[in-house]
Amino acid sequence: MPLSASVLIDGPSELVFDYAIPDGLPVRPGCRVRIPLRNRPATGTVLRVAEKPQGDFALRYLTDLVDPEPLVTPELLKLAEWITSYYGTPLEQVIRAFIPASIRGEKTSAKTARAALIEKAPTEEELATMAKRAKRQHAIIELLTGATEPIPVAQLGGSASASLKALSEKGFIKLIDLEVRRDPDAGETIIPTEPFTLNNEQAEALEAVSDSLISEKPDPILLHGITGSGKTEVYLQATQKALDLGKNVIILLPEIALAPQTVRRFKARFNQLDDKIAVQHSHLSQGERFDEWNRIRSGEARIIIGARSAIFAPLRDLGLIIVDEEHEPAYKQDNPPKYHARDLAVVRCRLEKCAVLLGSATPSLETYNNTLLKKYQLVKMTQRADGATLPLTRVVDMRIESRKQKGRDAILSDRLRTAIDERLEKSEQVILFLNRRGFARSLQCPPCGHAIECNHCAIPLTYHRSEERLVCHICGHQAVVPRVCPECKDPAIRFQGYGTEKAEIILNKLFKGYKIARLDTDTTRRKNALRDTLRDFKAKKIHILLGTQMIAKGLDFPNVTLVGVLNADLSLYAPDFRAGERTFQLLTQVAGRAGRGDLAGEVIIQTSTPHSPSIQFARHHDFDGFVTQELEMRKQFSYPPYTHLALLLARSSHERRAEFTLETLHLKLKENLPEGVILGDPIPSPLTRSHSQFRFQLLLRGPNARVLSRHIKKILDATPTPEDVIVTSDLDAYDLG
Ligand SMILES: [Zn+2]
Ligand SMILES: [Zn+2]
Repeated sequence: MPLSASVLIDGPSELVFDYAIPDGLPVRPGCRVRIPLRNRPATGTVLRVAEKPQGDFALRYLTDLVDPEPLVTPELLKLAEWITSYYGTPLEQVIRAFIPASIRGEKTSAKTARAALIEKAPTEEELATMAKRAKRQHAIIELLTGATEPIPVAQLGGSASASLKALSEKGFIKLIDLEVRRDPDAGETIIPTEPFTLNNEQAEALEAVSDSLISEKPDPILLHGITGSGKTEVYLQATQKALDLGKNVIILLPEIALAPQTVRRFKARFNQLDDKIAVQHSHLSQGERFDEWNRIRSGEARIIIGARSAIFAPLRDLGLIIVDEEHEPAYKQDNPPKYHARDLAVVRCRLEKCAVLLGSATPSLETYNNTLLKKYQLVKMTQRADGATLPLTRVVDMRIESRKQKGRDAILSDRLRTAIDERLEKSEQVILFLNRRGFARSLQCPPCGHAIECNHCAIPLTYHRSEERLVCHICGHQAVVPRVCPECKDPAIRFQGYGTEKAEIILNKLFKGYKIARLDTDTTRRKNALRDTLRDFKAKKIHILLGTQMIAKGLDFPNVTLVGVLNADLSLYAPDFRAGERTFQLLTQVAGRAGRGDLAGEVIIQTSTPHSPSIQFARHHDFDGFVTQELEMRKQFSYPPYTHLALLLARSSHERRAEFTLETLHLKLKENLPEGVILGDPIPSPLTRSHSQFRFQLLLRGPNARVLSRHIKKILDATPTPEDVIVTSDLDAYDLG
């Protein structure tokens, strides 16, 4: 049967063309091939191989294979097929995501440097003459004779050096091109560490992973360890166990720029003899990415540390995947294929029979529910590794402060202000946390704390200015904006308010003479801004660090004894059914930043709803209590983990056309709606306009993910959309617009 291949052409255009495959050429998806393109030779990557359409003689033949081995392993190809069937993403889009552009293209290549080595050693006599007449040449020969490998000419006086030229002309030395690695962390000195002695809980966790490593049918393991319980040490020793068995390891971190400490700890443990670690994340240069990827593929690197896309690392003999902070939304990819890296880790576990360790102090409800269903194994660590106690957490009622401060934006309660003063006097440091998530505006009453919610969905309604309406982002329900609080009849009800920028201005006025630094997406646009600020904070050049969720996790500063949460309601009343979960996670993570050294820590949470369960459970470090009541709510309102959820979004520079397209799709989705699927009404997105495009969205929920994605794909494939409207769907969406 004649075959054809869809080839992704190298270059920025990302064109895909079909070519016939010459008989007998072993072309597989992932192979690099040479093809004719507009009568010129070009190269590309095979995305798909299919039967050649009969009677199609127009197809040109591809010329040859560049490399007989495909760039993706057979196991990864199975993963790609799984992604296609689950998320409904075309296979070619998936393969594109698997192979970085720097690998596909011809532009990036291995970097080389001129180096010298001894060709023919000079005789004693010749050496003696050289020592007298040509001291430079003599010194070079001495250096090269003592070296075990070629020395870059840069270290021998440079390529223009007359001495090198003379030596090479006389035939004493040879100049060659040496492949050099672009090491993203070159020049960093790291002091090696030895494994620590584990406490009982850590030892039990390690044993569970060890068993899993040799199991024929390993179940994923959830390591639920409180902040400071020493999860990283378990990761390190589990990694060692896998290496000892001759297997390789992938470690996923939610945001690698925020986790330099974790990367350094791995390097300190494993890079002592040779360089076994490769890193993969978006902050690498094209060249670094190319080199690191090739080190993975060649088997030179045995430990991969990376952000979500590292789940596609073409690593053979995979023994263990560690997903740190498994609950983090950063594991969900925003662009197609919109995969969830933690979920793919579990799929790779099934496909490649490797162990999977999901770690978190605040596991996601999806993962935790899987332990209740006995699909995952649960291991708990309930003690801080260094014997420290969890910080004391106080909740301050901002309704009282608002009355005291007479309606002005009460940013600091008296209690928090006094606590900050005390710390500054003792030269201790303070972290202030303010989760400001942009545009979504919910309505809350400062005097009584009441927030207006949708009766059907238990999430706050969001104010849409253009229609002067309150809208539910789950079901589409609309309501008029009340003039007074429905609860206490106070007319002071208004939108939640201030962000980090305003808070910084006020803090600077209140704490004159102290250095305050702000960390959010605005202040960290400059490269290394985040790293520099954290370094200054560590060096105690900054007294108060104010930031968004960016500073909530991973940071470990022993001198921080006070953490203040300026407005816990901002995340709690976001229009998202996960708001309670996120608030609980954030508060727990933020609290974990206090008292990590010998000094005791204190946490102060400011809120207008002090009795809200998420806040109370976080305050008492009660994960089980939180999960029990949250799962009940999710079940009652048919939210994940009891359903899967898909977000359908239409965007266009033509408002009417985007809206009309989504309304048409809504009608079609409604026909033959699969059983158990709940279809929401189309609404303007919370982010109504972005990049001068109008956005409309609707939500679907259903018990079965594949049924949901198939139904959506069927309707999308059968419904022509106007050219200037883009429709996307996101299964298991985290960001609800
Ligand atoms: Zn009220
Ligand atoms: Zn609703």
